[in-house]
Amino acid sequence: MRLDRIELQVIELPLIRPFRTSGGTTTARPVMLLKLDAGGVRGYGECVAPATPHYTGETAETARVVLERHLIPLALGGDFETARELGSTFDSVVRANPMARAALEMALWDVEAKIRDVPLAELLGGERKSVPVGVVLGMERDAGLLIERIGVALGAGYRGVKLKIGPGSDIPVLESVRRRFPDASLGVDANASYTSEDAEHLLSLDRFGLTMIEQPLPADDLLGLARLQERLETPVCLDESITSVDECRVALRLGSGRMVNIKPGRVGGHAAATRIHDLCEEAGVAVWCGGMLESGVGRAHALALASLSGFRAPADLSASGRYWSRDVVRPEFTLGPDGTIRVPDGPGIGVEVDEQFLSEIELDRKVFPARG
Ligand code: MG
Repeated sequence: MRLDRIELQVIELPLIRPFRTSGGTTTARPVMLLKLDAGGVRGYGECVAPATPHYTGETAETARVVLERHLIPLALGGDFETARELGSTFDSVVRANPMARAALEMALWDVEAKIRDVPLAELLGGERKSVPVGVVLGMERDAGLLIERIGVALGAGYRGVKLKIGPGSDIPVLESVRRRFPDASLGVDANASYTSEDAEHLLSLDRFGLTMIEQPLPADDLLGLARLQERLETPVCLDESITSVDECRVALRLGSGRMVNIKPGRVGGHAAATRIHDLCEEAGVAVWCGGMLESGVGRAHALALASLSGFRAPADLSASGRYWSRDVVRPEFTLGPDGTIRVPDGPGIGVEVDEQFLSEIELDRKVFPARG
């Protein structure tokens, strides 16, 4: 595959309602899309890096610099048999920066699947036709409002709910939620907002019968996470900690968690994500696929990945209409009556990208032609 052209487009997709986590509040999501043209097909990728460095350190701006100065020229200058090969080329010249790499790598997987005329899910080794999904709910100042939202989500058929928590916004919230929904499948995500000093406090969350406590401690405190998991009955789920295959190996060896949330956009792309899936399977660690407030492009990629057999727990991948008044893909993603979302079965990401709508909400665009 030789690329003819790469386009980088930044759009701003308004959220239906603000989304609050321990890292801040988001009202509209600037989304950086990559479009790769090769052999008459167009592949799409999405960079999941947020605006600020609160999550793993990468931001949309750092990712853009790495893409424009290093990764895009490399991709345009090469001839790759497979998307996997492009990823290996990145390994030798760019350290870290998995979100920047993933955006381009995943777009090339879409190109490859379209050239082979197979769904991306099939190319990745996925078998399932639909993926069970749950919702993530941001923090609310008003517990009544949160309870109402949980009721709506469960009523709509979502398989489970994940709540964002943080110091000062945990036990009272969980007490009122559990009183109202004693049997609901309920997990929490702390986004690395506690420290090892809070271990005793975190142990007290065991009594809420949670499916998991996601990333209670800072990403690089793998030892602290392992010590906490030893004492905690609830599975610790790793998110921010796992930014590469090697990081995952270390975490598995240490026992830093009994679950891993795999986001292809966070770990460097589909090749790394499938490898992490396999490693966790071998280690008996449960995996599920998480979302990053992606547009339909990122969602299509995540669903293709989540079709792999090891992703058993509900994915954090809601229907388009939960976040956006209008998504950038057709058809939009909708929730089936059984609490699942169908994995697209057309070639590549299997959904049509609405280029007209993209140009209407465009903030910036840059084209990189192939040299020579
Ligand atoms: Mg998380």
